[in-house]
Amino acid sequence: LTVLGLESSCDDTAAAVVRQGGQGAEILSSVVYGQTELHSAFGGVVPELAARAHAEKIDLCVAEALDRAGLTLGDLDAVAVTAGPGLIGGVLAGVMCAKGIAAATGLPLVGVNHLAGHALTPRLTDAVSFPYLMLLVSGGHCQYLIARGPEEFTRLGGTIDDAPGEAFDKAARILGLPQPGGPSVEAEAAKGDPRRFRLPRPLLDRDDCNLSFSGLKTALLRARDQIVTEKGGLTRADRADLCAGFQQAIVDVLASKTRRALGIYLQEAPAVPVLAVAGGVAANSAIRTGLETVCADLGVQFTAPPLKLCTDNAAMIAYAGIERFARGEQDDLTLAARPRWPLDRQSPALLGGGK
Ligand code: ATP
Ligand code: FE
Repeated sequence: LTVLGLESSCDDTAAAVVRQGGQGAEILSSVVYGQTELHSAFGGVVPELAARAHAEKIDLCVAEALDRAGLTLGDLDAVAVTAGPGLIGGVLAGVMCAKGIAAATGLPLVGVNHLAGHALTPRLTDAVSFPYLMLLVSGGHCQYLIARGPEEFTRLGGTIDDAPGEAFDKAARILGLPQPGGPSVEAEAAKGDPRRFRLPRPLLDRDDCNLSFSGLKTALLRARDQIVTEKGGLTRADRADLCAGFQQAIVDVLASKTRRALGIYLQEAPAVPVLAVAGGVAANSAIRTGLETVCADLGVQFTAPPLKLCTDNAAMIAYAGIERFARGEQDDLTLAARPRWPLDRQSPALLGGGK
């Protein structure tokens, strides 16, 4: 099966071709046009600008993905597209393009949940078997899912406010470090002492898999203001220690809640227990080490897809499309774009982290 995937739900316009054969799945091409510069002056993604840029770039992106794969539309078996959740104008741009291709060529159309794309990536990269525990940690998400099948996920919990990536980005803003905050806070933290500032670890006493990160950011702001009031400004060491304390709090919260989520998952006695992480925050080496330690302790395999497949891309959408299509599922030209689309049909859609 050779499938073209399209992704345009946030601030990356992407297209990719993935082929599933006897040897597993292979990424033939993966093209991502970022929009960071477009939005940089606004401190966040501007939906209207994003939608327009997606609409302008998606055709080019598809042409480039086919070209790099050395294929034409006639070589494909289906076209898969992110149908949500995400910024509706962007999702629509991708869905319209995919429908256009399907209508013009007669190729089957497969709508994909963006989060399912992230959650299935460990199967694309490492052929991980169901059921596995998935931790999605990014700028917009933080949730624990047991993946049981291409469209069967059980949500164990998630953030009730900010996502960790968002918290890193806000921390960087508070400390005057460059965006994206994750890498710059991590670099500073490496030079600091995590014990000097003891920042809160919210919800650790609660016996569930929910997390919270907004109080941490407020505590960081207070700690900064206190130093500024006392000494008139931050020294390099102050900044490094604040970053180290902040990062350590996130590591501790994620490690502790992951231990809890693994406990629930392990009750099902999976043959080969696996924890997979995805999302930009999985790039953080302190967080990775924290999670690896918990896994080693509980006899669970740890896997994290390469970073370019952790952040938004279309290879994961093409692959999720392959999984659906291989099960005989597809959509017709009435496929709708959905701004909200929780992965777990049983979970309350409005609970945090499931945008
Ligand atoms: P989503 O795809 O869930 O809607 P997003 O596109 O913002 O959200 P990603 O692209 O997966 O998320 O990841 C970006 C986030 O990851 C940013 O918030 C960034 O600060 C964070 N991040 C990147 N590298 C690191 C790092 N080394 N440590 C911590 N956070 C990091
Ligand atoms: Fe994403």
